[in-house]
Amino acid sequence: PRSGFCNSNSIFYSKRKLTPHPPNPYLDVTTFISSHAHHGEIAFLDASTGRHLTFSDVWLAVDSVASSLSDMGVRKGDVILLLSPNSIFFPVVSLAVMSLGAVISTTNPINTAQEIAKQIADSKPIIAFTTHQLVPKLAESSLRIVILDEHQSIPAVRNARIVATLEEMLKKQPRGDVRVRDRVNQDDMATLLYSSGTTGASKGVVTSHRSLIAMVQIRLVRSKGNEGLEHRFLCTVPMFHVYGLAAFVLALLASGTTVVILPKYDMHDMLSAIEKYRITSIPVVPPILASMVNGADRILSKYDLSSLQLVSNGGAPTSKKVIEKFMERYPAVTILQAYGLTESTAVGAYTNSLEESKRYGTVGLLSPGMEAKIVNPETQDALPVNRTGELWMRGLPVMKGYFRNAEATASTLDSDGWLKTGDLCYIDDDGFIFVVDRLKELIKYKGYQVPPAELEALLVTHPEISDAAVVPIPDEEVGQYPMAYVVKKTGSNLSDVAVMDFVTAQVAPYKRIRRVAFVASIPKNASGKILRKNLMQLTTTSKL
Ligand code: AMP
Repeated sequence: PRSGFCNSNSIFYSKRKLTPHPPNPYLDVTTFISSHAHHGEIAFLDASTGRHLTFSDVWLAVDSVASSLSDMGVRKGDVILLLSPNSIFFPVVSLAVMSLGAVISTTNPINTAQEIAKQIADSKPIIAFTTHQLVPKLAESSLRIVILDEHQSIPAVRNARIVATLEEMLKKQPRGDVRVRDRVNQDDMATLLYSSGTTGASKGVVTSHRSLIAMVQIRLVRSKGNEGLEHRFLCTVPMFHVYGLAAFVLALLASGTTVVILPKYDMHDMLSAIEKYRITSIPVVPPILASMVNGADRILSKYDLSSLQLVSNGGAPTSKKVIEKFMERYPAVTILQAYGLTESTAVGAYTNSLEESKRYGTVGLLSPGMEAKIVNPETQDALPVNRTGELWMRGLPVMKGYFRNAEATASTLDSDGWLKTGDLCYIDDDGFIFVVDRLKELIKYKGYQVPPAELEALLVTHPEISDAAVVPIPDEEVGQYPMAYVVKKTGSNLSDVAVMDFVTAQVAPYKRIRRVAFVASIPKNASGKILRKNLMQLTTTSKL
């Protein structure tokens, strides 16, 4: 192997040390995390109310909720929907569900009722946990509902569909036998998070207990060198996403870190919480990093950020300029990069020191135990170091496939277990990965997934639109936003504003089309695939 990380078949191995995976086939992720016992200290603290749970409170609550769910008939394989903003009970419900071998499925609370209904039709949950305020978003389904809010009087909220409150569940005396009833195998599905992958609409990503356990172990290895730095963590990223739920909240519970939780991201709330709770570590997506850089003068004069030691950045590409500027403006803070996908349980690559991060533009070295290939997209040949191609990854954290979607699974996972990431990358002489471009059609607006295929399908339902294509427009502030190329039907006087309004009325705010151009036809290849790159070039050259 060349430099110890790349063999003659151009397979790259991780240079990072791996912890052996627990061999017991019957192990669920909840039991695994709870075996890393921590006592006394605060595990989760709500930044807005100060309400908190100690590590012991968490495990008691998990067992109570699991016992209640078991009494309600929840069994292995049942899907439970969790529709909620970030809260201290988000991880509790998730761990309780997974401890029974049932499956936790999340969705963005700002999604529309229509978008949520689509996910429900696909994942077929049997119960939904949600807040009082979000109940109307479930209007189109007949799901049984458990209300998450505390202090809601039960008779006031109960109706035919609201069958319980979390508060009631937490009062339940936990029973010891619920976890053993349906023996959970590491291979069983634990979470069903939604991602559009390399093409098409959102799909359920089937993640096993094994993948989650592997992810937690990788995080534990990573934070070994950073114990002091990760002492008090502020969760600013959404828990419906793999980063918030798995990579941060579940993994940090295992490492004994106190996690302060913001219900949702807001710059002022984040900075005040850092000051108030003496936060040492925050995760960010590139747009947050960019606003911290652009507003540095005002931020540093207004807030005391002296406790902050670590910022982990990931989820979308970041410009070298922003990283350099961040280091200049916040010299006491170590910035780390991370790369991953929902399909790889957030695991992929990361930098673990300022030294590594100074290789500007890199997303880091492969995570422990992960393998990679750089594949020429045309010939499918594996390429050596410093050559650009599609990144393929293999390892325990990689998903089992897309939920009940053999076709999408087959085009994303090959028969040897390689996950085709849809990202164009190269690996340098020392094993550092650089993301060059995105081959797949996915658009990321402030780190949120915007699947173009979903917007295209919606656009062509307009009576005056005959065809449409949606492409990303690069933007400093938000990363990328969606732009639509639209073919009008003959005789139509449709305006760009009318097109945008039509979409806005039906999608979550982060999916809104923010620019429209009318064209005579959409460029496609012989098999009818939209030639997105041609349209993207058109946008940059014509300065529309
Ligand atoms: P998601 O499944 O929402 O996590 O999206 C995964 C995709 O986000 C990846 O395939 C990349 O295109 C992008 N991504 C994630 N992390 C990074 C990063 N550090 N740099 C560049 N792109 C990233």
